Amino acid sequence: MKFLALIIIVIIISCIFYSFRPFINKGDISIVNGKEAKSTEDDYAQQREMMVEQQIVARGVKSKKVLDAMNSVPRHLFVPVRYRRGSYFDQPLPIGLGQTISQPYIVALMTELLDVDNDDIVLEIGTGSGYQAAVLSTIVKKLYTIEIIEELGIQAAERLKSLEYDNVEVKISDGGLGLPGKAPFDAIIVTAAAPKIPDSLIKQLKPGGRMVIPVDNNSYSQDLLIVEKSEDGKINIKNTIPVRFVPLVKGEKVAE
Ligand code: SAH
Repeated sequence: MKFLALIIIVIIISCIFYSFRPFINKGDISIVNGKEAKSTEDDYAQQREMMVEQQIVARGVKSKKVLDAMNSVPRHLFVPVRYRRGSYFDQPLPIGLGQTISQPYIVALMTELLDVDNDDIVLEIGTGSGYQAAVLSTIVKKLYTIEIIEELGIQAAERLKSLEYDNVEVKISDGGLGLPGKAPFDAIIVTAAAPKIPDSLIKQLKPGGRMVIPVDNNSYSQDLLIVEKSEDGKINIKNTIPVRFVPLVKGEKVAE
C-alpha cells in the first residue's frame, strides 16, 4: 500500500516537472515545440539587431559608431550561461558576486554621452562583465578599465582577451582613485553609483575632456551626470536622466 502511494507521488511529481519544462531556463537552450533548441550565433545576431532597433534607436540614440558597436558586441557572451536567453532583453542582469551588467540602452546612452573617438584614451571604473569595455573598445584608441572585485576583473580580462578586444587593459584596484600613472584621460566613464564626483577623477581628466558618472540623488536613485572640463580647467556639470547602478565601493589599492 505504502509502495503504491510512493509510486503515485513519484508520477505526480514527474507530471508537474514535465509540464513546467518549457519554463525552465537552461542557459542558451530553449524549448521549441516540445524539443530543445540551442540558440545559434545567427539567432543571437538577430536578437541583437532587434535590441538595437527597439530599445536603443527607438529611445533616441543616434550615433552610428555607438549603434554599430551595440550591433557587433556579442552581449550573450558577457552574461552567465543561466541568464543567456535573456541577454538581449531590455533589462540589467546579474553577473554574480552581487553585481550586474547594465541594461543595453544605458550602455548605449552612456557611450553616446561620452562622445569619444578613435584617437581617445579612456578610463572606465567598474569593469563588471567587461561588456561596456568591449563596446567602448570598438570606438576608442585605448581603454583602461578598473574593477575592485578581483574575481570579476580576472574573468572579464580573460573574456575580453579571448574575444580579441586587444586595446583594453583591466586593472584590479579602487577605481575611485583613478589610474594616476596613465592620466590624463580624454574621457572617463563610471559604471557604479558614486556618492559624489570623486576629486581624483576630475584631476585625471584632460582639459577639454568629459566624464559620465551616476551620482546619488535624494530619490534613492542616481542622476547620470556629464562632467566637462574646459580648456582652462573650469568644470561644467549637466544632468541627464535618473538611473540605478550598484554602489561604487571604497578600497585602498591604487592601480599602476
Ligand atoms: N560596466 C559593467 C557593469 C558595472 S557593475 C559591465 O559592462 O558589465 C559595477 C561594477 O563596479 C561592479 O563590478 C563592481 O564590483 C564595480 N565597482 C564597485 N566599486 C568599485 C570601485 N571602487 N572601483 C572599481 N570597480 C568598482
